[in-house]
Formats: sequence, structure tokens, C-alpha cells
Amino acid sequence: MNLNEQQRRAYLEAIGIDVWVPRGEVEPDVEVLADALVPGVDDLDWNTLRDTVSACTRCGLHRGRTQTVFGVGNPDADWMFIGEAPGAEEDRRGEPFVGRSGQLLDQMLAAIGQSRESVFIANIIKCRPPNNRNPKPEEASACRGYLERQIEIVDPSIIIAVGKIAAQNLLGTDSPVGRLRGKRHSFGNVPLVVTYHPAYLLRSPSQKRKSWDDLCFARGIVREMSA
Ligand code: SF4
Repeated sequence: MNLNEQQRRAYLEAIGIDVWVPRGEVEPDVEVLADALVPGVDDLDWNTLRDTVSACTRCGLHRGRTQTVFGVGNPDADWMFIGEAPGAEEDRRGEPFVGRSGQLLDQMLAAIGQSRESVFIANIIKCRPPNNRNPKPEEASACRGYLERQIEIVDPSIIIAVGKIAAQNLLGTDSPVGRLRGKRHSFGNVPLVVTYHPAYLLRSPSQKRKSWDDLCFARGIVREMSA
């Protein structure tokens, strides 16, 4: 079994898919490879940007938040994951992708030799929409400049748009994820790959295999760029 196949199996097992192993074949121990629209934010440094976001009242979502959710991870990361908006738990903890979706994302990251600390994870919206409704276009555009400045500062090698809302907002399209994934897009001059949201994968486990393909596709782009 080659390395890619080993990694694929490790990934599928990590995210909870039973892996079919041909009779007689012993599964080896697999070591996963460690391998603006907001005026005035264009020249803010990271900490000032964070402080500005935490005091922001540019859209109505500030009224219902416990706190803003700026993002988590390494501000100098190669990989930047961008999701939709904080949910109830994220709003309480001040961190994106917590709870079951967050655990699944962590497993996906581990399978490509990354972690919550090595990548940067952000959302297109920094405050929780009520009742977990989708963000409205005017809320997304009010918040957009913050994300754009985050992307500028992190300057990642690749952006992974996680789920429909993030992908559609970042790419300015209404195409479904199924049609956007598997292609190399770009956000400015940064390559962008679309994948499913972990919350969707928890509801539709049969799609989990495709998320592995998406991350491999993205990893290929990162390697190509650093070659
Ligand atoms: Fe400001 Fe964004 Fe929060 Fe709206 S969602 S109040 S624009 S930080």
C-alpha cells in the first residue's frame, strides 16, 4: 500500500468512516505526515485589527453577540480556512469551529499534518447571527473588509473555503459546493479550494471521502507553489 493510500485510510478513519481492508491485508500503523469594504482597516496591524473587530457595531449582529469571533491559529499560516459565522458555542467561547464540527475539522487538519495552531481559521462574519440563520448579504459586506485585511496579513499559500456560505461569499457566486469543489479558484492572487462544511459532513457522512479529495487537491497546489 503506497503512502497516499495509507494517508487516505488514516484520514477516513480519523473522520469516522469505516475503511474497507482487503482480506489478509494488515492495516499498518500510519503516522500522519507532520508534514474593503470596511473603511480604515487597510493599514491596521493584527492586534489593532482584532481590537477594532471586537468593538465593531457596523451591522446589527453586534446586538446579539456575547463576543466577536476573530479567528484562531497562526497569523503567519500557509493554510487559511474560512467558514461562515459563529454559532452559539463559538459565540460563547470566542473561537470558530468548536463543538462537533470543530472536532471533525481538527481531525481533518490532523490528517494533512496540520492543526488548529498551525493554520489560521476565520469566518466571513465575526458575530453570531441569531438562531444560526445564514448571514444576510449586507452583513457579509459590512464585515468583509476585516476578513480581507486578515487575508492580507496572513498572506496564506492557500485558502480553503469551508461550506456553501463561505464559498459563495468569497467567490461571488451562487453555485452549490458540489459544483465549486475540485477546481482551483482564487481570491485575489491566493489560490482557493472549496470543500464541504464539517456540519454538513456530520449530516451526510457519505460525502466525507470527497473532503479528503479536496484537501489532497489543496495540498497539491501548496506543494506545487513551494516547488
Ligand atoms: Fe461588525 Fe462584522 Fe460583527 Fe457586523 S458581524 S458587527 S460588521 S464585526
